[in-house]
Amino acid sequence: MLDYTPKEITERKALNVNPAKTCQPIGAMYAALGINKCLPHSHGSQGCCSYHRMHLTRHFRDPIVASTSSFTEGACVFGGKSNLVKGIQNVFNIYNPDIIAVNTTCLSETIGDDVGEFIRDSKVPEGKRVIYANTPSYAGSHVTGFSNMCKSMVTQIAESTMGEGNNGKVNIMPGFVEPSDMKEIKRIAEEIGMDYTMYPDTSDVVNTPNTGKYDMYPEGGTSVEAIRESGDAMATVALGKYTSEEAAFKLEHKCKVAPYVLKVPLGIKATDAMIFKFIELTGKSVPKALEKERGQLVDLMVDVHHHYHGKKVAIFGDPDIVTAMTEFVIDLGMIPKYVLTGTPGKVFAKDIYHMLENAGIEGSSVKSEGDLFELHQWIKNEPVDLIIGNTYGKYIARAENIPLVRVGFPILDRVGHSYFPVVGYMGAMRLIEKISTAFLDKYDQECADEDFELVM
Ligand code: SF4
Repeated sequence: MLDYTPKEITERKALNVNPAKTCQPIGAMYAALGINKCLPHSHGSQGCCSYHRMHLTRHFRDPIVASTSSFTEGACVFGGKSNLVKGIQNVFNIYNPDIIAVNTTCLSETIGDDVGEFIRDSKVPEGKRVIYANTPSYAGSHVTGFSNMCKSMVTQIAESTMGEGNNGKVNIMPGFVEPSDMKEIKRIAEEIGMDYTMYPDTSDVVNTPNTGKYDMYPEGGTSVEAIRESGDAMATVALGKYTSEEAAFKLEHKCKVAPYVLKVPLGIKATDAMIFKFIELTGKSVPKALEKERGQLVDLMVDVHHHYHGKKVAIFGDPDIVTAMTEFVIDLGMIPKYVLTGTPGKVFAKDIYHMLENAGIEGSSVKSEGDLFELHQWIKNEPVDLIIGNTYGKYIARAENIPLVRVGFPILDRVGHSYFPVVGYMGAMRLIEKISTAFLDKYDQECADEDFELVM
């Protein structure tokens, strides 16, 4: 389908073709689902809300609920205040959430709706809350939207109530990762014996079991009370510069909780860094179980090194995932030839080039705010052995006959990502399995009969 992508690269400033991102409210909605008994609310047209819900539903294969201000022509001309005020009243009356998390859309942002003021003029039942985040989609990406909603959790919910003291807990801000990844990070914290609050936490919200009964508010998610108390924590470990850093800094500014910004723990180095930070903060030692998992990962890395050595890879997707993934493929002996994200931001290319330089790798192309059309053109000019990214990479993979390993958001055509982590040592082993299988399957399909081996 992309067979006609031209090789010649021309400078484009005002046009994206096949963007490597989607719009802000999707990320904001996903973050909001990580609060227990929260109903995300989209302040804009029904069409936007349907798209955002549908995209998340297709990725998680679970029903994603969200309400909408249902803008029509009147709201577009006169503003959406009455829609939001009435909407909040209806949502509390009909669906009875503990909290509503409002995100704006392109339309309400362009009109200039002051959502904070609208909420102040709304009737919020006692004990309930409404928070909001500005998420204009003509700026940033779904990653920015996720980050903005996380910031709102801090600025509009977190409090410091214990004065000089702290509650002995560590806040973990996991970044835009799968519910399975959040669960794995919690498992690691629990192995260490660390008292923590993770938020947002979408595990057991968007990957719930089929019980035969529909539950609008599954048991997962961080309680509003726990988020409020995060202002009394001893530290915040923010995983991912793009998704978690700003929320952690806001919490420091508001409640003086020390922030530590690390990579999403994808791959061996990033997982080591997270575990060492947990150890440093708690004064505990590395548990035997994690030591064993790390040893197994190192063993596997050695076992498969000959499959990986010198292979060229194109990696695209969300900046925090791509950054950690780049570090991991270097550790596996591969060459990240093309590294691209659709999300704007200056530190991305700097961080990637720094890693490449340290590894002595030259001649790679790195770009933030890039699109998949350009990535395809790069690949046409000099092919790679593997593509790592979300489902949208499958068109390039098919056109160029290159295996695609699906990592990131969205994954719309494969299953398992909601249940099996890619973070931590166990997740790194799963990634190695996926990458090796992709290489070896291609080899098995294409090699000559005399090279078709039982043992590889
Ligand atoms: S109009 Fe804006 S918010 Fe709505 S779906 Fe499109 S990009 Fe997203």
